[in-house]
Formats: sequence, structure tokens, C-alpha cells
Amino acid sequence: MSGLDYDSLLDRVTKGLEKVGSKSKRDRLELPKPEILWMGRKTIIRNFAEYPRLLRRDPGHVLMFLAKELATAASLEGDRAIFIGRKDPHSFAVLIDRYMKANVICPVCGSPDTTQEKIKRTHFVICEACGARSPTG
Ligand SMILES: [Zn+2]
Repeated sequence: MSGLDYDSLLDRVTKGLEKVGSKSKRDRLELPKPEILWMGRKTIIRNFAEYPRLLRRDPGHVLMFLAKELATAASLEGDRAIFIGRKDPHSFAVLIDRYMKANVICPVCGSPDTTQEKIKRTHFVICEACGARSPTG
């Protein structure tokens, strides 16, 4: 038996154990607080890139969601996201939470260990914990 087989077996055993505890710590992703900077009439999230990275989502998808919810224009500049208008840090935290509920958390088992796949014009959340494939808005 190769090392890889052993690892995948161990992984399966670990995953099985996690399911026993109804709500394990892994059910909640630790997300950073948004680092907000105001410049004139613009709001900049300095650590924006951390969110799509931790959520394993396309930065443009996260940005579009936030821009739509805030009813404003937004753009990416390196790791930062820039929004038109003065927005408060609390609204970003609320919206990131909403994004997670809509696009990251598996609706079947509640795990955040998911990936997103776009088929035609529909986004699907594919759960690595229970294997469910759920369409999202
Ligand atoms: Zn699931």
C-alpha cells in the first residue's frame, strides 16, 4: 500500500469522525475583520483578497456580490477592493456573512468546505464533506 492510499484512508476515517460531532469547529471559517480605509468618496478594503482565498471563490464573484448588495460600483486593485461611496466596516462583515450563507455553506450539511462550479449560467456549491451539489443564486 502506498503512502497516498494510507493518507486517503486516514482522511476518510477523520471525515467520518467529524460527522459524529454534530457541529465541529470546522463548521465555522475564521474570517478576518475587513480592514477599511476611506479615501475621499471611496471605500477600500485593504485585505479583500483574503476573503476569496479563504472561501475558495473567484475574487470577481465575491466583489460582484458585494457591489450589488451595496448598490455601488467596485473594482479590484491587487489585493484591495475599491467601492464608490463611504461604507462602514460593519456592513462588509454582514455582507461577507450573507455571501457565505448564499454561496459557500453547504445547504445540506452546513459545512463550509465547498467549491463552486459554474454550469451554463447557474452556480453550484459542491460540498466536500457530504458530496451534495446545490444550485445557488
Ligand atoms: Zn454538505
